[in-house]
Amino acid sequence: MTNSRRLPAPVTGRLPAPLTDHWDWQREAACRGMDSSLFFDSREEPRPPTAPHTLTAKAICAQCPVLAFCRTYALDSREPYGIWGGLSEAERADILGLKRLQHPARR
Ligand code: SF4
Repeated sequence: MTNSRRLPAPVTGRLPAPLTDHWDWQREAACRGMDSSLFFDSREEPRPPTAPHTLTAKAICAQCPVLAFCRTYALDSREPYGIWGGLSEAERADILGLKRLQHPARR
């Protein structure tokens, strides 16, 4: 005995975009595989803007082919820590018109 009922075909136009579309830029990141402590320092957040590790991270970002994607992601998601897209926490907060990015974010 066969089941003659058929499921409706999916309406692909209503399906969410593939998740990889949002994250594939990370595959091209200049920092990929590097020591993450160059970009994050749990002992010193927010990090001083002219600290050697801050300047090193920013120099790497300046050569990164996906800097714009990274910066957009960090601003859109209000990344509270680290160097993203060549910007420090304080620089991202300034762009967003916030006093700080650490929770709770305040204007
Ligand atoms: S811009 Fe900087 S933090 Fe962002 S992916 Fe590139 S190297 Fe990494």
